[in-house]
Amino acid sequence: MLKIDSHTHILPKKLPNWSTKFGYGDFIYLQHHKKGFAKMMRGNQFFREIRDNCWDPDVRIEEYRQFSTQIQVICTIPVMFSYWAKPMDCLDVSRYLNDHIVKVIEKHPKNYIGLGTLPMQDTALAVKELERCKRIGLKGIQIASNINNENLNEPRFFPVFEACERLGMAVLIHPWEMMGEKHMQRYWLPWLVGMPAETSRAICSMIFGGIFERLPALRVNFAHAGGSFLSTIGRIQHGFNCRPDLVAIDNAVPPVNYLGKFWVDSVTHDPMMLEYVVKLVGSKRVTLGSDYPFPLGDLEIGRFIEETTLTHQQKEDIFHNAALEWLAIQDEELKA
Ligand SMILES: [Zn+2]
Repeated sequence: MLKIDSHTHILPKKLPNWSTKFGYGDFIYLQHHKKGFAKMMRGNQFFREIRDNCWDPDVRIEEYRQFSTQIQVICTIPVMFSYWAKPMDCLDVSRYLNDHIVKVIEKHPKNYIGLGTLPMQDTALAVKELERCKRIGLKGIQIASNINNENLNEPRFFPVFEACERLGMAVLIHPWEMMGEKHMQRYWLPWLVGMPAETSRAICSMIFGGIFERLPALRVNFAHAGGSFLSTIGRIQHGFNCRPDLVAIDNAVPPVNYLGKFWVDSVTHDPMMLEYVVKLVGSKRVTLGSDYPFPLGDLEIGRFIEETTLTHQQKEDIFHNAALEWLAIQDEELKA
């Protein structure tokens, strides 16, 4: 069965020293301190160690083939978003990363599909880079769950979503700059608590802000099975019902009406939760995802899905139909 992994991250092997080039800021750079490994440095601070499966397309293909996966959707690592930087500098970083992803997909058209990154802190530049992403062969873009702490329903971001709909570019929303991060450094809480909350924040902002209502053809996928959104949909709907004066101020459509309108990936690490997610949004809206190559990801790439009670058809949807529809790719395109 064809497997498309809709959520994976990649970096170029070499990154310019942008802090030196621009003369400020803690941009990420790589220290290749031993063969096959590199340290991601944020300024002088160690961020995380990565392996060659983070940058070497061939090593990756070999690894994911072991889990019968043929195609990865690749995008950058959220720490590279650089929304805090000066807009032109973020554009520079974005272009570098996007051009690299295009090189990878051009060399391995059967194994990779690419998503770009945008300088979201400047709407005009973001739309310009989005249009370029489309021209150079990317199928969509990845953006963060908030932009410098502004929610995605802010009117200034609307033209970007509008352009995504117009150009037919898919959107992956990925949690980053997690709320409360400063106050929960211990126990990896920004990743375990902050990330799921961030994704729910993004979905709620887009629903209540009327983004999906105004852009019905916009195709959005939310990482990590939508974070805590789906497991708290009862509460969210109840809040909408009991306090419309607080919740329904920009959009009168109930949140449950949007179940099945957007996509989520399968990164739940839990067969029962995945079955529940499928029940809520339908198997055509759940894309196989791994978060490869990071340890918090599902590095067996959906093996647990085989063990669920989902039907063959539902598994087929998750393994490829849902991603093909999200990315608006025809089956034939991949076989060509
Ligand atoms: Zn991820």
